[in-house]
Amino acid sequence: MKRLLTLFATALLAFSAFAQPDTPVVQFLKGDVRRAAFNTHSYEFGPIYDTPAPKGYKPFYISHYGRHGSRSDWGGPQYKLVRDLLTEADRQHLLTPAGDSLMHEAALLYELHNGMDGRLTPRGVKEHARLAERMYQRYPEVFKNGSKHIRAVSSTTPRCIVSMNGFTGRMMSLQPDLDFDLDTGEKYYAYIARGENSTLIARTNKALADYRKTIDWDNETVYRNLFTDPAAAKKLIPDAYEFQNAIYDCARVSDPFDIPDNMYRYLPFGNVVHFHELNFLSAYLNQCDSKLNGEIRLPRSQELVDTLISQADAVISGKVKKAADLCFGHDWPYLGLVCYLGLEGVSERYTLEEAKDLWLPSWFCPFAANLQMIFYRSKKSDEILVKFLMNERETRLPALQAVQGPYYRWNDVKAWCEKRIPKTEIVAHRGYWEGNAENSIASFRKAQEFGCWGSEFDIHLTADGVPVINHDQVISGTDIQKSSFEAVRAHRLANGEHVPTLAEYMAQAARSRECMPVLELKPQATPEKEDELVDKCLQALRPAAPRNVPPEFASFARRQEPTKVVFISFSHHICQELAKKAPDYTVQYLNGDLSPAQLHAEGINGIDYHYSVFYKHPEWVKEAQDLGMSVNVWTVDDPKDIRAMRDLGVDQITTNKPALVREILWER
Ligand code: MG
Repeated sequence: MKRLLTLFATALLAFSAFAQPDTPVVQFLKGDVRRAAFNTHSYEFGPIYDTPAPKGYKPFYISHYGRHGSRSDWGGPQYKLVRDLLTEADRQHLLTPAGDSLMHEAALLYELHNGMDGRLTPRGVKEHARLAERMYQRYPEVFKNGSKHIRAVSSTTPRCIVSMNGFTGRMMSLQPDLDFDLDTGEKYYAYIARGENSTLIARTNKALADYRKTIDWDNETVYRNLFTDPAAAKKLIPDAYEFQNAIYDCARVSDPFDIPDNMYRYLPFGNVVHFHELNFLSAYLNQCDSKLNGEIRLPRSQELVDTLISQADAVISGKVKKAADLCFGHDWPYLGLVCYLGLEGVSERYTLEEAKDLWLPSWFCPFAANLQMIFYRSKKSDEILVKFLMNERETRLPALQAVQGPYYRWNDVKAWCEKRIPKTEIVAHRGYWEGNAENSIASFRKAQEFGCWGSEFDIHLTADGVPVINHDQVISGTDIQKSSFEAVRAHRLANGEHVPTLAEYMAQAARSRECMPVLELKPQATPEKEDELVDKCLQALRPAAPRNVPPEFASFARRQEPTKVVFISFSHHICQELAKKAPDYTVQYLNGDLSPAQLHAEGINGIDYHYSVFYKHPEWVKEAQDLGMSVNVWTVDDPKDIRAMRDLGVDQITTNKPALVREILWER
């Protein structure tokens, strides 16, 4: 009887689905509501088909990037919340049969997760074993005819290492003479697990918070479904959103534990659609080529792409004998990778509004999501072909002309990757000050939020030795270098801020690991004063604690901190001192009167010249880069000059117009 009532309630909830606009995403969920789990949906293996390769071509090498398989989540407090609230309702005799059933399921989830946060489940191991099996059976010639060597590398998190073991263990059992080389370590972090970015997370969270306010939640149905007395239940559970969100969190992790009942049945379908949206849009906006963040996100995949290309090239050239490279990581590098490659569907560019209706997330990124690149060669041709399999399904790369079906020339793929990301970075001049004051904390923050590669600011030393930020030496009649800090601090910027100190600037710098502080050390009255400014600036560079980094990666993030600043100065003496005292840092000379070779001989490793200098000496860009120096150009605001400097191949453009420069750099 209990079961019947639960089914009846479920049917009522399903009825509300008709109120939902029938978008591709909604249809996708109607096909199987478990897909609402998005990235905690277990691997869905669909029908696969192999288009015959062009005549004479045989597969010889596979590059595989796989996300770990089904795992437990970190939702202990959420499962406990549902269990405890319903247990109290039960004590007050308020539960319907559906409420009673949910109470027991939440209690089961809490028990299953206890002590197992983020661990691979047995289902996750099987997902990888079956992936290996299918790869082996689809392309047996790769493993039987050529090299028997396979290299596998995993992220250091246990769920990825266990996934690697599940995969390689199954391959060993299929062909015992395969020779495996398994590895994991922090050194692989850059290309296995990079992707999270605090700038993107902040922008995305804001966009999602705004979107959430527009959602019309059905809060009544759940009270009627789970409780015999909805009014009494509301006293016990006043926040319907939080309660339903916790139920959604329960539902989205039942797959990994093979819990057969569909826990979404406790929620109105319309609410499931919205929880699903908020969940997958976060990943889409943070990790994919979205119209909100694509230009900031795609460059984060560069090292992974470079690594996969160089691994494949080493095998193609014959320098390395290998049948396959296997890489075991996470969803965010995986999504970044497939979007960088521009594979169809997943890498579509949408706004938030468009993506919520059109992007089919769990089809792209379930547990054990994977990209396989299958390489082919022919005895009669030097041309190497490659085919992309996304979650084992043949996938097109629409930007390129295929040779036949889904088979692409490897050289075309590499050329496409080479031009995918602009090589020139953006530095905001005195911060992104449009609408703010130049050299203010607010302008620095805006540069960080916009995703600038760097933000430049000017540093003077007060008479009593405090480094402060201002462009001019004189503020409203007060000469900074001849005045006390107190006298300088009394002045306000146009936006009402006090004149900032270097310490305040570096505290703001620590809020975003991605935006490089570019410190311009202003010439001082004497060499001694310049030395003092150099010393004070170096003292101000304390490695900050990493922010917005999952705890398991914190040690890697910290390791990357120390040299993430650039020094610039018009003073030749200051640049010489910095080169001597801080040779690991980038120091760019500003004055435009010395050749790269002259500076390089003194150990100064960068130039930052006015664009008129590069119009006169375009050869200095390559000359400097060939010497391993970095090349910046200031201050470029005109589209004609921006294009000219981009085409010269400078490393950074310093500008008052970051949005315009980004638009021109990314002309697609
Ligand atoms: Mg400056």
